[in-house]
Amino acid sequence: MDDPTQAPPSIGGHVVAVPYPGRGHINPMMNLCKMLLSKNSDIIVTFVVTEEWLGFIGSDPKPRNIRFATIPNVIPSEHGRANDFVTFLEAVMTKMEAPFQDLLNRLQPPPTILVSDFYLFWVVRVANKINIPVASFFPMSASFFAVLKHYHLLQQNGHYPVKLSEDGDKRVDYIPGNSAIRLGDFPLSDDSWRSRTLLQSALNAVPWVQKAQYLLFPSIYELEPRAIDALKAEFSIPIYTVGPAIPYFGYGHIDAELGYFQWLDNQPSGSVLYICQGSFLSVSKEQIDEIAGGVRESGVRFLWVQRGESDRLKEMCGGRGLVLPWCDQLRVLQHPAIGGFWSHCGWNSTREGAFSGVPFLAFPIFMDQPLNGKFITEEWKVGWRVRTNVKEDTLITKDEIASLIKKFMDVGRDEARDMRKRSRELKQLCHCAIASGGSSQTNINAFLSHILQSAKPELGHSS
Ligand code: UDP
Repeated sequence: MDDPTQAPPSIGGHVVAVPYPGRGHINPMMNLCKMLLSKNSDIIVTFVVTEEWLGFIGSDPKPRNIRFATIPNVIPSEHGRANDFVTFLEAVMTKMEAPFQDLLNRLQPPPTILVSDFYLFWVVRVANKINIPVASFFPMSASFFAVLKHYHLLQQNGHYPVKLSEDGDKRVDYIPGNSAIRLGDFPLSDDSWRSRTLLQSALNAVPWVQKAQYLLFPSIYELEPRAIDALKAEFSIPIYTVGPAIPYFGYGHIDAELGYFQWLDNQPSGSVLYICQGSFLSVSKEQIDEIAGGVRESGVRFLWVQRGESDRLKEMCGGRGLVLPWCDQLRVLQHPAIGGFWSHCGWNSTREGAFSGVPFLAFPIFMDQPLNGKFITEEWKVGWRVRTNVKEDTLITKDEIASLIKKFMDVGRDEARDMRKRSRELKQLCHCAIASGGSSQTNINAFLSHILQSAKPELGHSS
């Protein structure tokens, strides 16, 4: 099953999955593929990644029916993705299409359906050209998709560009499927080149969704029913929430070398704050230093994941916890010692925290993160904001952080106790969605039946 140009004997459909080459995109798409295969082992999946990503995930455990196919790296790997994000993003948009098309021509058996990351709009173009159905996989929330789809309304209402210092806290309620959103929580509340380029790429990709045959969200209907209902009313193609799209159905191996699970095993239940600001650096060094000072001063036990900075932070944070460059996040969140999640509110982390029933300290930075933070703090009420004021991008000081963390982790307080109760209820809701007859299971089955239908040669595909 390893050579994607060789056909296996008999199959129920050949899914070609094309994720954006980034952790937060690859993980949920891989999880969706595993989910599909767990329901029907006649399907085969070709998972298309760059050579760099094959190096990262090539040896991860996966079902036999998933095989990798590679295309060349879009920029020389020594340039690093986080260091030059804009160059990387532009290369993804312009340099992957030709090698992908070439690969597609060689794949055996011919693909039944493509599942492509929303950002990679050119996959939709290729699929349309060769008449293969394509599902657009939007890697963030449906509510955020609605924001992108209706972004022009900001301009129409005179709210773009927004002066955060004057209007950041003002709320607008004209985005379908969303309750009133603070202007400061829209993407582009900071005006860095990186944010602008990322937002523009997303806005450019939105119209291509209409040319796909399916729209998939790694979300759960019950987490954001208004947005899903609003989008279903707007689109003629089937829309499926297939989340949480996290690997709850089979964990990877424990990284015993780091021994952090042993450390967690020795901490009191609910006593450890897990801190992760995302898989690529998104906070200033000064702010990281303040967080470290606050964590130390709070005296709370912690496990902090911070790539590239772990040695420096280890010294700054004191002896109450661990600083690691990476961890098995979902498994950590599920550990009984974890009592809170300081998060940048990436959509994967948001679902993982919700699924694990852990309350959040929300510290979103850009793109969809502030809106996810709004869901966490205002809609589901399972977390508190670290930054309450959207008007200024000021440093949150270590004293503020220390006092917040202490309150947040103090289960003796009514406020903290009620929030934990709601977190457990949210966990329950997520678990119901994946139980038999639950919303996500039903949607995955429906999508699967489209795949199987398309695989029947006499019927061709539905487009
Ligand atoms: N992650 C992990 N270990 C870490 C840090 C992150 O496994 O030490 C995973 C995390 O579980 C999540 C993904 O990386 O699935 C990050 O995705 P998210 O959307 O939260 O944030 P991004 O990094 O894409 O902004």
